[in-house]
Amino acid sequence: MRKLIAGNWKMNGLASSLEEIETLKGLTGGAACDIVVCPPFTLIEKAAQQARGSHIAIGAQDCHTKTSGAFTSDISAAMLCEAGARFVILGHSERRAVYHETNMIVARKATAAQEAGLASIICVGETRAERDEGIALDVVRRQLRGSLPIAAASANTAIAYEPVWAIGTGLVPTIDQIDEVHRSLRQILEQELGQEGRLVRILYGGSVKSSNASSIFDVPDVNGALVGGASLKASDFAEIISAAA
Ligand code: PGA
Repeated sequence: MRKLIAGNWKMNGLASSLEEIETLKGLTGGAACDIVVCPPFTLIEKAAQQARGSHIAIGAQDCHTKTSGAFTSDISAAMLCEAGARFVILGHSERRAVYHETNMIVARKATAAQEAGLASIICVGETRAERDEGIALDVVRRQLRGSLPIAAASANTAIAYEPVWAIGTGLVPTIDQIDEVHRSLRQILEQELGQEGRLVRILYGGSVKSSNASSIFDVPDVNGALVGGASLKASDFAEIISAAA
């Protein structure tokens, strides 16, 4: 399966950061995987212009469930699409924790994204306490089941397994732990989507770096990565991309 490597810039990046996209274009031409950069909302349009005609797609980090209306500060999937985004990260643990996003909200957002023509990267992941309690698999399985959009398919949906305790901490699960979770998520996808569930890409996210990327990509059901900190610098991100290609 062709891998998907997505960079999540989070709330980082001013206009000067667009140079990173220019550099990334040069460093990753011909890469045998799909590459997405998700800058903050304010940079999406410019980033999309810069990436036009290249192998890099631009994504957003959230969208609203509705297409328009009285939702001060919110942004709809159609607006993102018009600005040039092709992907949107949904249900990131920072959104789930800080903005109390439930699985149902994530599923509605993913359906809205789909209707607007955006592909979703839906995040799931357990906390440290949930892993220590031995309920990590139950948690991610429940999150995945509850967060899928109405007509999920491999063309419009990817899943990112991001253990909350691995995000931005430098901690990474063991290869066996990643393998166990990804296999389990694959099972759920097959149960929910049949044959199509085999084709939905499952990314790993949480402290991915060039030094650990190859061993993570060797896990059979790891079909790419969602990269935070290491996506901010084009040279670091390009090394991760080359480990996938
Ligand atoms: P990190 O973040 O790579 O900095 O750990 C990943 C993410 O939150 O998507």
